[in-house]
Amino acid sequence: MSAEYRVDLDAFRRNLRRVREAVAPAAHMLVVKDDAYAHGLETLVRRAWDEGVRWFGAFDVATGAAVRAITGPDARIFVWLIGGVDDLRAGIAADLDLGIGDEALLDDLAGSPAASARVHLKVDTGLHRNGIRPERWDAALARTAELVDQGRAVLEGIWSHISEASDADDDDARALFLSARDAARAAGLEPRFSHLAASAAGFARGEFREDLVRVGAFSYGIRPAGGPGEVELGIEPIAALVATVIAVDPAGVHLDVGSLHGLPSALSGRFDVITPAGPRRVEAIGATSTALAPWDDARVGDEITVFGRGALRSATDLAELIDTIGEEIALRVSPSIPRVYAG
Ligand SMILES: *Cc1c(COP(=O)(O)O)cnc(C)c1O
Repeated sequence: MSAEYRVDLDAFRRNLRRVREAVAPAAHMLVVKDDAYAHGLETLVRRAWDEGVRWFGAFDVATGAAVRAITGPDARIFVWLIGGVDDLRAGIAADLDLGIGDEALLDDLAGSPAASARVHLKVDTGLHRNGIRPERWDAALARTAELVDQGRAVLEGIWSHISEASDADDDDARALFLSARDAARAAGLEPRFSHLAASAAGFARGEFREDLVRVGAFSYGIRPAGGPGEVELGIEPIAALVATVIAVDPAGVHLDVGSLHGLPSALSGRFDVITPAGPRRVEAIGATSTALAPWDDARVGDEITVFGRGALRSATDLAELIDTIGEEIALRVSPSIPRVYAG
């Protein structure tokens, strides 16, 4: 055996049900960027579709098209990184819902073939990543209204992204968002879907749920650093990094994962794993192997769960030890470690 990243699809299903219940009556848009948070896009999308998830948030057009190939024609697939006119055309061809946060893309739509694009207009509510600035919003609405009149676009949604780091900032962002939506209505546009919350605000703050909540982290059981725990949220980690003992010597017991597989070396000496002899400290994380404090009878081939489901520590627990977020640990698990599914 060698190291594996084991994903429990029954736990994933339970999280999906929990998210659905927590955000209802809004719909759950399952965010699947970064290879479904490194769990493996194809298997997770397939399972989510079987579980009744009907909206997917795919980030870029190539991923959106990949999701379309997995789900077939009936899924709604939202993408929000559109690189230019070719990307725009590919997105329309794959029947994606297009998050437009840049006026230049509206011009590109005007020049594209007469297919009707499903547009979700993004207003920048303070994060300044992308999004149409409030002072340009009316102009963007006017441009969108022209495209709608010409049959080139349908305004499906209005959306934004918020920091979820402070309630006060989020409240300010929401006020901007609501006035942007009012402006759209005043301009005669009637978006069917509003969305601005991700995992944290979607769970904690009912007034942020609108029609869709774009939930990534909590769907995979990744709790927020410094925030509520899994039990309180009703979610569970779905994946475990399971390593194998490859050598035993007086200095320690050596596992077949290291920093090149995604385990930050800064975690050396900072956490324990469960061994057949009880908890042992992770003493040194090298490039391709990790040394644990020794125990009697350690054997080559023993399996050790380093973090995640069934381990002493979740991805977010490890993240907190080095002042980062759970995604930084979970998303780093190298593609060279095979994903293995159960359930
Ligand atoms: C990543 C992302 C999300 C999901 O955020 P989580 O905190 O993982 O739920 C939602 N919306 C956008 C625009 C994102 O980039």
